[in-house]
Amino acid sequence: MVSRVIPVAPFDLIVFGGTGDLARRKIIPALFRRYLAGQFEDGTRLIGAARAGLSPVEYRLFAKEALKEFSAEYDENSEGLEDFLNLLDYVPIDATGDDGWEELKTKTSTDRVQAFYFSVAPSLFGALAERLNSYEIAGSQARVVVEKPFGRDQETARALNATLAEHFDETQIYRIDHYLGKETVQNLMVLRFGNMMFEPLWNNHYIDHIQITVAETVGVGGRGAYYDKSGAMRDMVQNHLMQLLCLIAMEPPAIYDADALRDEKLKVIRALQPVAPHHIVRGQYEATDTAPGYREDAGNLRSFTESFVAMRCEIANWRWAGVPFYLRTGKKLRARTSEISIIFKALGHSIFEGDTTPHRNILSIRLQPNEGIDMTVTVKEPGPGGMRLIDVPLDLTFAEALREADAPEAYERLIMDVIRGNQTLFMRGDEVEAAWGWTDPIIEGWEARHDVPKQYVPGSSGPEDALMLLHRDGRRWRDIKA
Ligand code: NAP
Repeated sequence: MVSRVIPVAPFDLIVFGGTGDLARRKIIPALFRRYLAGQFEDGTRLIGAARAGLSPVEYRLFAKEALKEFSAEYDENSEGLEDFLNLLDYVPIDATGDDGWEELKTKTSTDRVQAFYFSVAPSLFGALAERLNSYEIAGSQARVVVEKPFGRDQETARALNATLAEHFDETQIYRIDHYLGKETVQNLMVLRFGNMMFEPLWNNHYIDHIQITVAETVGVGGRGAYYDKSGAMRDMVQNHLMQLLCLIAMEPPAIYDADALRDEKLKVIRALQPVAPHHIVRGQYEATDTAPGYREDAGNLRSFTESFVAMRCEIANWRWAGVPFYLRTGKKLRARTSEISIIFKALGHSIFEGDTTPHRNILSIRLQPNEGIDMTVTVKEPGPGGMRLIDVPLDLTFAEALREADAPEAYERLIMDVIRGNQTLFMRGDEVEAAWGWTDPIIEGWEARHDVPKQYVPGSSGPEDALMLLHRDGRRWRDIKA
């Protein structure tokens, strides 16, 4: 079930790469849900574009198959499905040639919001941007949406920014990090800045350390060749984990506005300290009797690319000096989970006789699965026998507590933000470059030292050394559990 919302004025959305994997799995299903929610007014145009010579009817069949596979709302006989499919159009186009551009021009209007979604390889961004202008297709309300990876280091990100800037203003460029579209990530900001009780404690006086874990159970699968050139640091840390870290660590912006927020995130990135080699652990999942290891999956038996990384980071500013941020992400781990945990300091003194265990409040924000927040608090164990203290979670699972089961998914929210012209949840060019500026020396260090990732058992929590990263500091990782 999708709850109905206020529609937006008719717009044009053109998905370059409309026949690709991302379009099939995410973009088309997201548009379908927004359509069912009643968000599109009559006159809205949704146009797929790619080189394949499909007719609009063939493209609708392609979209139907995509929905059948990837949309929970798919219902073969529903009117909504048929009406949505009829809304789809298609233009065969070559990003690097002249085919299709005149036809596209006839199908979109410059006097309305036009969203051009570049769901193609980054090497095509320049060619697309250039043609949108030279064929006078993009009007003053045009926006371009670009996907990760945004470059593979600071230099390539800078070059991509420069290419886009030749044709579009920064206010027209939407760099997607779908983690920012998640309900809980936005709730993290409301939790911090909409409540009195957290922000006064949100600093090195009360917080012991912070853990961010993004764990996957899948391996690199069919993406092996691509992934092997990237690795966990480029694929996950530079974007998703750093964005989460910024939202936790940033100062309160004066207003909830795109630039105010992005200015604060940028300050965090700039305050991140270089990471010493002994504060990072890289790993590769090994082969088992029944499943290939990372190197076999990647098709590169001599690969030094990491499928796991854990690191201890420090932010050098008044708020966070002395509070380590431990980040960890990897493939083929014990469970699929994304979680941010704020571990508060233990009480300095207990008034309860015999209570020798240090109790810590833990605020835990789960991004997936079961988005929600829980807070570990210390209470009296019920029953007679004196004051025995136990730590129990106060759980707020959104699906139950706030009936958010039909909340828009990340791609839905982000696409509608593009249409509304709201850049708050998108990365600004300087932010992306600064993030690479922090990760580049780490990656260059590995390359210079020919660093060999540690092997880890699939289904585990990663290499043993990752546990040591915290043990050395007298701490331990939270369990990876679904
Ligand atoms: P893909 O499956 O390889 O699809 C690429 C699309 O681009 C196809 O529709 C292809 O169709 C089209 N295309 C290729 N060359 C073209 C050209 N010269 N002119 C016009 N269209 C062209 O790639 P994808 O997985 O969808 O990824 C798209 C982008 O999203 C990439 O930047 C990727 O890094 C990013 N991304 C993907 C995912 C994901 O889950 N798939 C997740 C995050 C980010 P034709 O060959 O018919 O032209």
